[in-house]
Amino acid sequence: MDLFEYQARDLFEAHGVPVLGGITARTPEEARAAAEQLGTPVVVVKAQVKTGGRGKAGGVKLARSPQEAAERASEILGLDINGHRVETVMVAEGADIAEEYYFSLLLDRSTRHYLAMCSTEGGMDIETLARERPDALVRVEVDPLAGLDETVAREIVDAAGFRESDREELVRVLVLLGEVYRENDATLVEVNPLVKTGEGRIVALDAKVTLDDNSAFRHPDWTAYADESSDDPLEIRAREKHLNYVKLDGSVGIIGNGAGLVMSTLDVVAAAGADLPGQPRPANFLDIGGGASAQVMANGLDIILSDPQVKVVFVNVFGGITACSEVAKGIIDALGMLGERATKPIVVRLDGNAVEIGRHMLAEAAHPLVQVSETMDDAARRAAELAAAAE
Ligand code: GDP
Ligand code: MN
Repeated sequence: MDLFEYQARDLFEAHGVPVLGGITARTPEEARAAAEQLGTPVVVVKAQVKTGGRGKAGGVKLARSPQEAAERASEILGLDINGHRVETVMVAEGADIAEEYYFSLLLDRSTRHYLAMCSTEGGMDIETLARERPDALVRVEVDPLAGLDETVAREIVDAAGFRESDREELVRVLVLLGEVYRENDATLVEVNPLVKTGEGRIVALDAKVTLDDNSAFRHPDWTAYADESSDDPLEIRAREKHLNYVKLDGSVGIIGNGAGLVMSTLDVVAAAGADLPGQPRPANFLDIGGGASAQVMANGLDIILSDPQVKVVFVNVFGGITACSEVAKGIIDALGMLGERATKPIVVRLDGNAVEIGRHMLAEAAHPLVQVSETMDDAARRAAELAAAAE
């Protein structure tokens, strides 16, 4: 789960990381009041959206009076930044920036370590920095058992080549950011820019934090971060029905049982579609699990069929504890429940326990939308062809 900048800023502040004052506003009037309350000669009005590059997109603007803050807020509120609508801005104390640095700490699954990245050349986005000035970006592996302690922080700061006179304070700030990371079960803490002000203070001007959703059970306070506005509406509906559903971009709806089978179904469909016009791809991941009832099948089909991008559905089930006969019954009953709402072709591949009975039941039912394929490859090709033809 990603946090908004203002939420991450609050976490930083709670851990003693130097930040500037910031107050959220949802209207220009609130922005004016926030600027008055901050009382600094300059404030910065910043779009609160969970995407980078706000500065370039016109989502970060300086204001020299409360009146100007209200005007800048009215320009920024409602903006679309990379598909995210700005509902809230943060009015922050203006900083007198002398230098901009970069720091991040993230979970590196491939090495089972944390990775710290740091540069004396911050401000621009990290991908650009990594591409254009790879030598300027220092990478240091951090042992997750030790965490980002003073020794590692000093190693990072030395390697990045900061000025000697700034190093002690930078070490202190990096250790605090390491605490933010660890104590909040984060997978990412990124500060871009970390700045030195004209007075020589080190301050985190931007704050990006991703929390590990797997740790939610031990952070009851995270409910305050619930943010349905940034979720896909189909994913929200699927969650309400307790379905393991992830929306993707393609046109072939997928239902399978078992995460592994569904993952390989996505691959087989993508491969089958690669040579076809429009290159149809999977529209979603949906694992209905073992022991799926007709109701679960109906819920899954209902979600997938309400995705306007979907042209065809591929049901790929390997009968185990739940026999194929049960699955066939589930499909037939689900189509009965959906009635008129079922409008797109459904390619079914069954295998495993009681497969003959299951196929026989589908043949008997002879639903006009249902086609049965014998193998997973045949079914994937058939589904991809139907999707390509429907484009
Ligand atoms: P991002 O573009 O989404 O990463 O948003 P940032 O919070 O990093 O802001 C973008 C840029 O705006 C920063 O790199 C700074 O150069 C500038 N900026 C942000 N806050 C201030 C401020 O208080 N004073 C000044 N002068 N510039 C700021
Ligand atoms: Mn930034």
